[in-house]
Amino acid sequence: MLRMHALLRAASKVRSRAYAPYSGFQVGAAVLAKGRIYAACNVENSSYPLSICAERNAVAMAVAAGARKIDAVAIVGGTRRPAAPCGGCRQVLAEFCSPETPVVYAAPDGQSVTTTLGALLPSSFGPADIMGAARESTGTKRGLAGTSRSAARFRGTRSSGRRRSP
Ligand SMILES: [Zn+2]
Repeated sequence: MLRMHALLRAASKVRSRAYAPYSGFQVGAAVLAKGRIYAACNVENSSYPLSICAERNAVAMAVAAGARKIDAVAIVGGTRRPAAPCGGCRQVLAEFCSPETPVVYAAPDGQSVTTTLGALLPSSFGPADIMGAARESTGTKRGLAGTSRSAARFRGTRSSGRRRSP
């Protein structure tokens, strides 16, 4: 599949920019969204838990560009064998991928595994689960729509640089 080769190339290229001075484990990830490729590397931190995986950084780039659906994922990392995405990244990918979304993960030497997000994270918790809870909530009349309106107001407040006094 041509697009998977392009995604793998992008992931492999960005992997060289990984900031991984502590683990030495360099990873590059690329996602396809709205016909464009968004590629990112892992970024570690001296406060270890703050390190961020390449996959999540690539998802954030796509979302920041306006994408809400990811059509394919490629990851290059590992040493002797291809390293599959971690559990946290599988959950983050599931937010924007369907179970059928192709995922290929490859070792730097080229050997790869092709699978789907549904195979990597079966029976996942997803948007439908929490949206159902928001709709069924009887304690408040504010459903998810109210939540996003609040978020929009918050963003507006932040971007205007002004704060209302309490
Ligand atoms: Zn991860």
